[in-house]
Amino acid sequence: RKFIFVTGGVMSGLGKGITAASTGRLLSNAGFDVTAVKIDPYLNVDAGTMNPYQHGEVYVLKDGGEVDLDLGNYERFLGVDMTSDHNVTTGKTFQHVIEKERAGDYLGKTVQIIPHITDDIKRRVREAAEGTDVCLVEVGGTVGDIESMPYLEALRQFAHEEDEDDILFMHVTLVPDSKNGEQKTKPTQHSVKELRSIGLQPDILIGRNQNRLDIDTKEKIALFCDVPTEAVFSNPDVDDIYHVPLMVEEEGLDEYVMERLSLDDEALSHDER
Ligand code: ADP
Repeated sequence: RKFIFVTGGVMSGLGKGITAASTGRLLSNAGFDVTAVKIDPYLNVDAGTMNPYQHGEVYVLKDGGEVDLDLGNYERFLGVDMTSDHNVTTGKTFQHVIEKERAGDYLGKTVQIIPHITDDIKRRVREAAEGTDVCLVEVGGTVGDIESMPYLEALRQFAHEEDEDDILFMHVTLVPDSKNGEQKTKPTQHSVKELRSIGLQPDILIGRNQNRLDIDTKEKIALFCDVPTEAVFSNPDVDDIYHVPLMVEEEGLDEYVMERLSLDDEALSHDER
């Protein structure tokens, strides 16, 4: 099974979820069974009690799970039904680990973020991915947030435990324009530096700008962030978010992802699932 971890840099609300869902859509068009997990690093157990003015509408899943709107994007883009197991929150993880601690399941050990919380996060991701070919895992928030640290550490361990060609890290960042219209790569460089300081090296970088990234911008990002130029993609603003899959397809994102993950029919024989 293949996992695509999607993180965001510079600021939130960049379009990380849409980028992840679009990637998933292209893989599902190519014939793979795709699912997604949204990680919300807040202490709420679910989105059911959250103020819709602050957070947007609560999205209700088939099993009654009250979750973040992003899950709606995944269901629509991927054409699949999800359950509350596809939304991992800090509230759910801590509640479960603390309940186990109270029941004596840890046999007197000191219960800690590493390994107990990180193990629980990895278990949830693996369980949600069962029976599929590809699982997208989107980490909400921005790299550098204290709240996301346990998740990024869990994903680092996860990548260490799996084969190299089964895991791909995709990082979505803002590439702002300067006053004279130049595409600035410094925020991207800083957020990748932040990722690398916690042991994660992105395989693919996606730059959000009003327009497509210039080739010079892509080359600069590639050089400073240590990825091939072909691994830097644009995701410009569009009027309709349902055009994003087509746009990233034009950029060749799906082909790059499939090649990097050795996603072909042979690689996904049923035994491997
Ligand atoms: P994040 O997951 O980074 O918080 P979302 O994927 O939820 O961001 O997107 C934030 C907002 O930006 C949404 O309203 C979404 O519709 C919009 N958006 C995302 N990608 C694009 C794009 N390429 N062009 C225009 N709007 C976009």
